[in-house]
Amino acid sequence: MNYIKDVFGAVKSLAIGMRRTLFYFVRPKEIITQQYPDEMPVIAERFRGEVVLMHDENNEHACTGCTACELACPNGSIKIVTKFDISPEGKKKKAIDTFVYHLEMCTMCNLCVEACPTSAIKMDTAYEHSVFDRNKLTKKLNNEGSKVRSGVE
Ligand code: SF4
Ligand code: SF4
Repeated sequence: MNYIKDVFGAVKSLAIGMRRTLFYFVRPKEIITQQYPDEMPVIAERFRGEVVLMHDENNEHACTGCTACELACPNGSIKIVTKFDISPEGKKKKAIDTFVYHLEMCTMCNLCVEACPTSAIKMDTAYEHSVFDRNKLTKKLNNEGSKVRSGVE
């Protein structure tokens, strides 16, 4: 008896699946599968793809090297390497040498962005991160020759 019940159940399930297949066969415009990468998806503004350090047109940023983002990161995805710059008055001033970001470890939790007192970093919407060499996922976020914007403390 159970065997017959199973057979009917399987046939019913098959019919339901075939009904859906036929529905899309006669209405191809209803298909919602995206033909990626030929069709690129529309990314929401608040999508969290990766952490970036924002630079302006003068190659300046708002990172003071305070390391608040590094301390806020729960899994050590950020390492701030600092140096001392000499100001025109001859004073030593802390600055970032390298802003190291491990994209391969980042969980996109946004805690570093929230911790930053100068809004120097944000989450970018980049989402294609596949690489053949995982070393490429460890990034230096400060541009070559960039410096902190004057007035940012
Ligand atoms: S988004 Fe989260 S996991 Fe990624 S670097 Fe920032 S704090 Fe760390
Ligand atoms: S990005 Fe913000 S929190 Fe991180 S070191 Fe720079 S100023 Fe500090």
